[in-house]
Amino acid sequence: MKRFLPWLIVIGTLLLIAFVVRHLRTSSAATYQTANVTRGQITQAVTATGTLNLKNAEFARDKNPIEPGCACPACREYSRGYIRHLVKAEEILGLRLITLHNLHFYLELMRQARNAIEGGCFNEFRSGFVSAYKTRNTDLLGETPA
Ligand SMILES: [Zn+2]
Repeated sequence: MKRFLPWLIVIGTLLLIAFVVRHLRTSSAATYQTANVTRGQITQAVTATGTLNLKNAEFARDKNPIEPGCACPACREYSRGYIRHLVKAEEILGLRLITLHNLHFYLELMRQARNAIEGGCFNEFRSGFVSAYKTRNTDLLGETPA
């Protein structure tokens, strides 16, 4: 069994990546987000409970970080409202902060998946993640993501 463990970790990680990519591709901002995750051209932040379009008016006065409990510099130092302001003002820092958070999120997700596989509880981890991950396609301003 120990001989197959590294392969199980690789396969499990790939399956989780495939799930996230498939979900992002089927959401309204999908291709946009997956293609531009490292180019800093996105306004959607990925969280454990789904995506947040930080251009939406609902975040204008939101003092919470992108994802409470996230250890990335964007979440430690900046609020959703401030990041939204940066995005709306077309300040590149806003997009950089969202990208920083998203990359941190994906790395942390993969770390958790690896730990779940090594602990023999990947199915429970996957089920928990999938059930908590919701799509938020509604844009409260009536704008559709580019
Ligand atoms: Zn973060």
